[in-house]
Amino acid sequence: TTLAGRLLRTGARALATSVPGATPTKAPLYINGEFIESRTKDWIEVRNPATQEVVSLVPQATPDELEEAARSSAAAFQTWRKTSILTRQRVMLEYQALIRANMDTIAKSIVTEQGKTFADAQGDVLRGLQVVEAACGITDFTMGQMLAVAKDMDTYTIREPLGVTAGICPFNFPAMIPLWMFPIATVCGNTSLIKPSERDPGATQILARLAAEAGLPAGVLNVVHGAVDTVNFLCDHPSVRAISFVGSDHAGKHIYERGTRNGKRVQANLGAKNHGIIMPDADRNHTLNQLTGAAFGAAGQRCMALSTVVFVGSSREWIPDILARAQELKVGSGFDAQTDVGPVISPQALQRIHSLIQSGVDEGAELLLDGRQVTVAAGLEKGNFIGPTILTGVKPHMKCYQEEIFGPVLVCLEVDTLDEAIALVNQNRYGNGTAIFTRSGATARKFQHEVDVGQIGINVPIPVPLPMFSFTGSRGSFLGDINFYGRNGINFYTGIKTVTSLWRAEDAGETRASVNMPTMH
Ligand code: NAD
Repeated sequence: TTLAGRLLRTGARALATSVPGATPTKAPLYINGEFIESRTKDWIEVRNPATQEVVSLVPQATPDELEEAARSSAAAFQTWRKTSILTRQRVMLEYQALIRANMDTIAKSIVTEQGKTFADAQGDVLRGLQVVEAACGITDFTMGQMLAVAKDMDTYTIREPLGVTAGICPFNFPAMIPLWMFPIATVCGNTSLIKPSERDPGATQILARLAAEAGLPAGVLNVVHGAVDTVNFLCDHPSVRAISFVGSDHAGKHIYERGTRNGKRVQANLGAKNHGIIMPDADRNHTLNQLTGAAFGAAGQRCMALSTVVFVGSSREWIPDILARAQELKVGSGFDAQTDVGPVISPQALQRIHSLIQSGVDEGAELLLDGRQVTVAAGLEKGNFIGPTILTGVKPHMKCYQEEIFGPVLVCLEVDTLDEAIALVNQNRYGNGTAIFTRSGATARKFQHEVDVGQIGINVPIPVPLPMFSFTGSRGSFLGDINFYGRNGINFYTGIKTVTSLWRAEDAGETRASVNMPTMH
């Protein structure tokens, strides 16, 4: 059959993956404006993490299909790059309205495939939508510079798109992370090849359909599926000029090394271990609420989760209050409006979290709250559930402190001074985010100045910057030079041409050519 012969009825099909209780559908590839079923024999099951029900099947796209997607992206670039910036801005203006109107449909798909609560899934979509809204300001973001050097000479810069760009996404923010990538890439005039996480492709499918509705031409956004083979294809293909990656250290290092070896620009957001510093002068109620939400929300599966708390001095007396708040959180299905903590993504992830908790106990930490034997509502017995868990008396050498747990587990350390807390944060290999809770401006100012972490919250637990700024995780949490979204995102997806021009009335002077370096005097 031809590609067209495999064309599916797009709209309904693109939505079908995210309905719980429906027969599993095959996630379609989206190539050149068409949703097509892969010819592969290699299908990956997407399971509802609350029930283990198979909700969809993701293809490991075949080499031919991947090649076809790359060809489509390269061809579309030739026309898309020539469209006016106002045309591209107009598509983003339409797109933001469509995402807003379809937010709940996208959120439902996220709850079904990823497990987070519905309200949290709406936040996932909203934080991505804000990037699309910021992309509407492209006309200001891409202005160049111009200097009239002399009466007949000008130098000016032009920002131009790179060509085909690729995005490789993690499971934990199925809408937000793709939206950090392709809207900025395409509004700059690039085309984009997106690979959603093979664990939850549904949100990207809906986003692709909405992008087409908003007027993004065929081939400007293509969606390819699969695991490592698809990733390696994107790292190797000569048409791909830049790769954006968000995910684990292991995959990110591989992609950074393979992509840069092939001459591509790569930005990679990696793992994290974010510390919350609690000063004794902090607003008690605000701090305890924020800390509990940031540690256990999204079942701890946020790269900016506050997974580690450092109590400074007498603030350690608040540990029983954190315990009380954590015990109040309800574990269950993300579709239950009462639920605070949904399931984690897979049985393997659950197993890994259990063993990291156990390692803490074995190394001498105290298990203040053990969520491993949590009970959930009938029908959810097979889900990957774990309740809020708190380890106290943790020491820096312990495995539960050294490794990213990525589950609803709060690791507590105690120090006597702010200097010790800062030293602890700076000795940790990660630099994604950190937060301090205090009422003292001088304390906050010292922390901000001395802490070596790219994103800092002052009485704000998850300081993910709004998209007029950039996501500036640092040290072990980032590989590359140019961050995601905001002005950095524009810089990542564009190159600069600098033009020096001379427009002089007829030159009737010297007839002998000079071989000296032009100094433009
Ligand atoms: P993951 O690395 O397992 O998967 C991410 C992507 O990489 C997927 O598309 C997957 O197909 C691909 N991949 C996985 N293993 C690979 C391999 N060996 N070779 C090539 N490609 C591979 O990450 P995940 O489990 O989906 O996401 C969770 C991780 O992402 C956590 O470590 C979290 O901290 C991190 N994360 C970081 C940020 C950030 O901004 N720093 C944001 C979100 C998530």
